[in-house]
Amino acid sequence: MPLYEFRCANAHRHELLLPMSATERSADCPHCGAPAARLISAPALGRLGSERARLIESTAASAHAPAVVDRVPGARSAPRPAPDPRHARLPRP
Ligand SMILES: [Zn+2]
Repeated sequence: MPLYEFRCANAHRHELLLPMSATERSADCPHCGAPAARLISAPALGRLGSERARLIESTAASAHAPAVVDRVPGARSAPRPAPDPRHARLPRP
């Protein structure tokens, strides 16, 4: 998702992550509540590969393609039950 930059009439700037299909051209300023217009700005290529960018990408990816796990990370597998001694007396092929 691209990061859009907004500026209100009081010159406060803020950023919002919006989907590419978003058509919002304004958003309320989080500082003063005034309507803020979306700015046309250069792509933030310098942010690629940063810790912030990785966090944003992994958060967005987890909503669409969550990692598949077979158990709770960090948890040990359940202990196996002790073998039944009667199984040793069963006939063998
Ligand atoms: Zn403002």
